[in-house]
Amino acid sequence: MEKEELLKEVDKKVAACRKCPLYKTATNPVPGNGNFEAEIIFIGEAPGFHEDQRGIPFCGAAGKLLDRLLSSIGLDRSKVYVANMLKHRPPNNRDPSLEEMEACREYLDEQIKIINPKAIVTLGRFSMVKFYPFGKISADHGKGKIVEYNGRKYIFIPMYHPAAALRAGAVDAQLREDFIKMPEEIKRLEKIINGVVEVPIKQEEEKEEQLGLI
Ligand code: SF4
Repeated sequence: MEKEELLKEVDKKVAACRKCPLYKTATNPVPGNGNFEAEIIFIGEAPGFHEDQRGIPFCGAAGKLLDRLLSSIGLDRSKVYVANMLKHRPPNNRDPSLEEMEACREYLDEQIKIINPKAIVTLGRFSMVKFYPFGKISADHGKGKIVEYNGRKYIFIPMYHPAAALRAGAVDAQLREDFIKMPEEIKRLEKIINGVVEVPIKQEEEKEEQLGLI
């Protein structure tokens, strides 16, 4: 099957999913959307009010900021894929529970496997810890790493969530700066993944530490 068909199968599974209670209070499932051949997948936390109403990820105010950030580096939604950790909205936008994230994990994992992106960019701390369990968003934002996830190496860059940037000017400035640096960060790590330059010792240590915790 082609990537588009495989992703539509994931969409169908999400629409029929009853693995956690969130489907009961949500209006629509929000599986994800964008380019099936994307080199970068952006992963947020969970659908908000507007996303729940329309079934589209990042379509409210935070999504408009994400569009401006993408535009600042010559990208738009047609070139990337955007998804969330949770596929149904938690009531009143509360934080996702550990049980909900575990129940929903297989859908995002399938999307990542099908799209097979070069880089994973997480937005906010919940999606960051999926790939970098001991990361701290205030210290690690914008700093790219190579992570091994489900048997494959990915370029991984944690970022602040655009919704946090809308609430605080300092976070907004930092997020914009991190986006501007992202293309160079991806190029730098791509050279390491492809063996063009040696992996710095520190990064190997981080990888081993992380693998030991999975
Ligand atoms: S949030 Fe995820 S696990 Fe929960 S019902 Fe929706 S698709 Fe299923």
